[in-house]
Amino acid sequence: VVRAEMFGQLTSGLEAAWTKLKGEEVLTKENIVEPMRDIRRALLEADVSLPVVRRFVQAVSDQAVGVGLIRGVKPDQQLVKIVNDELVKLMGGEVSELVFSKSGPTVILLAGLQGVGKTTVCAKLANYLKKQGKSSMLIAGDVYRPAAIDQLVILGEQVRVPVYTAGTEVKPSEIAKQGLEEAKKKKIDVVIMDTAGRLQIDKGMMDELKEVKKVLNPTEVLLVVDAMTGQEAAALVTTFNVEIGITGAILTKLDGDSRGGAALSVKEVSGKPIKLVGRGERMEDLEPFYPDRMAGRILGMGDVLSFVEKAQEVMRQEDAEELQKKIMSAKFDFNDFLKQTRAVARMGSMTRVIGMIPGMGKVTPAQVREAEKNLKLMEAMIEAMTPEEREKPELLAESPDRRRRIAKDSGKTEQQVSQLVAQLFQMRVRMKNLMGIMEGGSIPTLSN
Ligand code: GDP
Repeated sequence: VVRAEMFGQLTSGLEAAWTKLKGEEVLTKENIVEPMRDIRRALLEADVSLPVVRRFVQAVSDQAVGVGLIRGVKPDQQLVKIVNDELVKLMGGEVSELVFSKSGPTVILLAGLQGVGKTTVCAKLANYLKKQGKSSMLIAGDVYRPAAIDQLVILGEQVRVPVYTAGTEVKPSEIAKQGLEEAKKKKIDVVIMDTAGRLQIDKGMMDELKEVKKVLNPTEVLLVVDAMTGQEAAALVTTFNVEIGITGAILTKLDGDSRGGAALSVKEVSGKPIKLVGRGERMEDLEPFYPDRMAGRILGMGDVLSFVEKAQEVMRQEDAEELQKKIMSAKFDFNDFLKQTRAVARMGSMTRVIGMIPGMGKVTPAQVREAEKNLKLMEAMIEAMTPEEREKPELLAESPDRRRRIAKDSGKTEQQVSQLVAQLFQMRVRMKNLMGIMEGGSIPTLSN
């Protein structure tokens, strides 16, 4: 098992929950009590805010108790999947893309407290956009710290992006205006404005941001927050949103030993999505925030997730009702045959991976290989049939010429084709008989 290094503590905290379900047959109100306690504890220790934890645990328990059985999926795996889906939802579901202006330059206004990595983000973002073929320009708006301006200029040179500066004597809103004009003249695609941070929120900073925002009319207003500050980051996003109106957040320092509270709380607490994450000090270390990948990393159980998803898919594909109708009317054709066989083969190869589908008994790797070989063989022959032949197997039963053609086209022998046709008719008969027995009728005799 590859342990996800990020949020490692959260990952192992959650693991305790799955472990408690080992050996259980189904999820019940009783047997999820302990695991839910583990999940709750793990999230609180990760510094997720309490109301968020409460809602999360409630949502997961509701689903866990009401969940239907999926053939072959164990309760602990089912819970992993439920937790995963809720984590994805908690983090906003879909990736939240940056919005670009359709006319004139896109303007991104960056805000954030001191030391969160805002200046670094300016340059990282320009670098990120460059890779998408967009030109950008940085505007240095931190007039209180000359060092901050110098730092931005250096970083700008590093990523080869122009930096607009006007010293420390000009008001930030004036710098913003001049910078934007300059960018328009140069036909720059994206303008990124750096603003002054403070150690704490204060009115001066908020007023300044409001003024700059008015001048720039930005496409995006992004608050940079430090992942190490946990749920405090989520509270900050809320405050900035209420005060100045923002479009999203950028979460930095996700590479450190942050516990996950910020990543998990921001969207739920503030209603604003995390759009990008910083995962290191290099200029390349900025990427979109993908809730599904993040959840996957937290759980560190990618193989279980894809297994449960496949099992669900197989269930859907089997589509029992439709199949039954076909059986009743003895219309079971080569298309159904193929669907059915593929579903069985998929279950077979999953057994090999996971080693545990009840009802299928112990399947040996050799048996799975054999089944897969058979499937390939049949597929080749069925693919060589015309659509009409697939729907009316009778045509093949009646015509040796057709069977010969299929054998030739699929590279199999005539005997193999005949066998396949016979197999389909046997299946029809078996199904008819089965239906007869189930309905209490007598076993029907064959008409042909
Ligand atoms: P600002 O005061 O908000 O402008 O913060 P800076 O951009 O100057 O960054 C503060 C410190 O955090 C610097 O040492 C950066 O190298 C560091 N830093 C920024 N982003 C990240 C990140 O994603 N991961 C790590 N490990 N360090 C970061």
